[in-house]
Amino acid sequence: MKTRRQAHEDGEKTYKTGTPCNRGHDTPRYTSTGGCVGCNRMKASETRKNYLNKNWGYTKHTVTAHKLDIPKINEYAKTLEMARKLQEGKI
Ligand SMILES: [Zn+2]
Repeated sequence: MKTRRQAHEDGEKTYKTGTPCNRGHDTPRYTSTGGCVGCNRMKASETRKNYLNKNWGYTKHTVTAHKLDIPKINEYAKTLEMARKLQEGKI
């Protein structure tokens, strides 16, 4: 087990503390910020989900409200739907 200072001196990006974070993650911490890798990963997936949902709503609106039949948009919608399903664990 290393301290943050030791990890920093060794030029390592992450280090293990041996104790779980406030949210109970038993993942390493970032040497630069001391932040939990697990928490960071959680935040990133949350952001991605929000982004997809937002864009999915917009695409659906554009395609249905304006009755667009542009292959490119359909392709984009399909990609988004697939991404959404993946996010929701349906694939
Ligand atoms: Zn955490």
